[in-house]
Amino acid sequence: MKKVIGILTSGGDSPGMNAAVRAVVRTALYYGHKVYGIYKGYHGMIHGYIKELTSRDVGGIINKGGTILFTARSKEFLTKEGRKKAYENLKSYGINALVVIGGDGSFRGLYDLITEFKIQGIGVPGTIDNDLYGTDYTIGFDTAVNTALDAIDKIRDTATSHTRLFIVEVMGRHAGYIAAYTGIGGGAEDILIPETITDIEKVCKKLEEGHKKGKKSSILVVAEGDEAGGAFEIKKKIEKYVDWEVRVTVLGHIQRGGSPTALDRYIATRMGYEAVLAIRRGETNKMVGIVNNKPVLTPLKDTWTKKKPIDKVLPKLVEIMAT
Ligand code: ADP
Repeated sequence: MKKVIGILTSGGDSPGMNAAVRAVVRTALYYGHKVYGIYKGYHGMIHGYIKELTSRDVGGIINKGGTILFTARSKEFLTKEGRKKAYENLKSYGINALVVIGGDGSFRGLYDLITEFKIQGIGVPGTIDNDLYGTDYTIGFDTAVNTALDAIDKIRDTATSHTRLFIVEVMGRHAGYIAAYTGIGGGAEDILIPETITDIEKVCKKLEEGHKKGKKSSILVVAEGDEAGGAFEIKKKIEKYVDWEVRVTVLGHIQRGGSPTALDRYIATRMGYEAVLAIRRGETNKMVGIVNNKPVLTPLKDTWTKKKPIDKVLPKLVEIMAT
């Protein structure tokens, strides 16, 4: 049976999703498959927001943030009736294979759909958090880190002028990847990440030592999911130990936007291409990842049941570089 591929972006958007859409569409067309864009994620699948895509429809988008297919969260898709409606819509267009670009929530949805109905499905990891098991990088992570770094460099300028402590909160849900990479690249004095237990007293001692050694500014990078709290809570806790002026910056959604970096454009293109090849080979219920520069397929279920460990060298690097 000829594969007819449906493509959608789902859940949280991330820079580079467009590059992945473009890669899926062009690879599929190159091999003679029809491709349909499903707009607004699973919500659009249920409500029939479906349109055939040509190579020209995905022209001029590789450098654009966001997603031309839009994204959404769908409560209806959490129910079997919702998924049945979605499946009937796909069937009416002759779509028999799906590529879903999203995070673990989107993959859970895909898993449910393909276990309940006769449809093939491959996931492509699109999330700035880099928290998915089965891939070294997720699409959007590198851009998010570069955006956060740009902000840290600017904060460092003002922090140095006033000899202040800045606490910068970055995204990452329950993962510390953005915080760790931003902290290393931005020369942070410390990083507070959910993968390690935060000891505020120890953090303050380290900051004071740096102060005594003549450091003109201090930056702490806090992951939004740190178990000790977000930046404002950390500020309150730190103020019990030190009497410096402490300022907080929460970077927020700027980390989700912007033109994707070269690395994100490459991994998105490669993953989109590999997803279509996997569908052509008859693979299903798997996510395409890149591990050690090679494409790897991982069962969808592993992406949310297995934890991607953070390399212990990352906090060590921060510690040594902050001396
Ligand atoms: P992300 O893919 O970025 O993790 P979400 O967690 O919001 O984003 O998931 C996107 C969508 O996937 C949800 O709105 C829902 O429709 C679907 N989804 C999430 N979790 C499940 C689940 N356990 N079962 C079925 N569908 C799910």
